[in-house]
Amino acid sequence: MPFWEGPVWEGMVAETERDGETWYECEMCGMLFDDREDAATHEANCDDEDPTYIQ
Ligand SMILES: [Zn+2]
Repeated sequence: MPFWEGPVWEGMVAETERDGETWYECEMCGMLFDDREDAATHEANCDDEDPTYIQ
């Protein structure tokens, strides 16, 4: 079963500013993206650890 099906959920992507630019950080593995959608897509599929919103 897919981890996430449906529209990309952007709620958990963290925003960080570096050198005046906004980056989006996966809160599970810490990977940085310059595009919010890329970050959200990655994070929705990131299996670094169990999703924290299921608690
Ligand atoms: Zn990740």
